[in-house]
Amino acid sequence: MIERTLFSADHEAFRDTVRRFIEREITPRHAAWEDQGFVDRDVWRKAGDNGLLCLTMPEEYGGAGADKLFSVVQLEELAAAGCSGIGFGLHSEIVAPYLLRYGSEAQKQRWLPRLASGELIGAIAMTEPAAGSDLQAIQATAIRRDDHYLLNGSKTFITNGWNADLVIVVAKTDPKAGAKGTSLLVVERGMRGFEKGPRLKKLGLKAQDTSELFFDKVEVPLANLLGAENSGFVSLMQELPWERLQIAIGAVASAQVAITRTVEYVKERKAFGQPVAAFQNTRFTLAEAQTQVQVARVFVDRCIELLTRGELDTATASMAKYWTTDLQCKVIDECLQLHGGYGFMWDFPIARQFADSRVQRIYGGTNEIMKEVIARAMGLPAR
Ligand SMILES: Cc1cc2nc3c(=O)[nH]c(=O)nc-3n(C[C@H](O)[C@H](O)[C@H](O)COP(=O)(O)OP(=O)(O)OC[C@H]3O[C@@H](n4cnc5c(N)ncnc54)[C@H](O)[C@@H]3O)c2cc1C
Repeated sequence: MIERTLFSADHEAFRDTVRRFIEREITPRHAAWEDQGFVDRDVWRKAGDNGLLCLTMPEEYGGAGADKLFSVVQLEELAAAGCSGIGFGLHSEIVAPYLLRYGSEAQKQRWLPRLASGELIGAIAMTEPAAGSDLQAIQATAIRRDDHYLLNGSKTFITNGWNADLVIVVAKTDPKAGAKGTSLLVVERGMRGFEKGPRLKKLGLKAQDTSELFFDKVEVPLANLLGAENSGFVSLMQELPWERLQIAIGAVASAQVAITRTVEYVKERKAFGQPVAAFQNTRFTLAEAQTQVQVARVFVDRCIELLTRGELDTATASMAKYWTTDLQCKVIDECLQLHGGYGFMWDFPIARQFADSRVQRIYGGTNEIMKEVIARAMGLPAR
């Protein structure tokens, strides 16, 4: 295997810390969280106490001031351990960076330290029942009154939605202006007219509290506007390379674990008097899967390197997201097949991986949308 050159000894020591935290605080409780449909809030506080939230946030805002590679390590370990209910990535690597990048000093002081400690749980709400890929078609409106925006609309499929204390909501502040009339507003738990729907029942990510959110004449103070009015879409576009790369990082880590655990399984399991590993089909399937995941890892590592230099473009990140998540699903499906009937049993981690991985091709922009982005960057005209 090609040696990875991205990480220093400090990053690897941090990897051990994350693994220990997962083994102690998450893995023993994850099945119970799957049954109840959400993770208990105390794990957020424990993660905060252990410095595992908002890693890259400057220390003045309660973070660890770490470089992005520490975030990469954490994303890899959470994915490898199958912690699919844990919304730390979205909270620390999407919500908090929006506040850091677009928030006023007062907003940063007010929210970031509490996100870093786990006192507040963050979410971001773009998707609506009738608008997902086509975000410009969102119907939520936030019309400016004297000292507030009047927010109306609903959002769906929101990660961390049921537990969330702070939600960055995408809404139209100038409904006639299309994408140029869109803004980001921070909606907080307890605001009148802000309601959460029940947790959505899903094919996978069963411990994740994905929810609908409803906004009925919510008076959002002007002080909760994030960034300039009507610049919401531009802000959303800026963060895309990192958001998409995070999904690719998780995809490669998860596919690698599927292979590793399947290698162990087929060495033990016997059929026709020999280990399943001895069949040529098994050996070729796993050899091909390992080759593809190795290729994916090298590409993603290069993307990570570009990202840390601020040079990763959206089209390349979209390639990483689409290709690695397709690969993840294919590899996990093949690994499940090699487990036979046991692969279909929920108590076998490969079954959970199968269920959890499917959404990787859908959220964060569907893989079809990724291909649209790539084709556009190639100068191919649409329609
Ligand atoms: C578990 C989960 C968690 C999520 N978390 C969040 C979250 O935290 N915040 C949030 O805002 N959203 C979240 N989402 C929403 C997610 O981002 C959307 O589901 C996704 O963007 C697709 O939108 P859609 O579901 O409306 O599908 P649609 O847009 O209705 O797409 C349906 C199909 O049409 C295809 N399609 C659409 N447009 C085109 C096109 N131009 N060319 C070719 N094919 C096209 C799509 O690829 C797809 O196959 C989450 C979704 C899930 C399932």
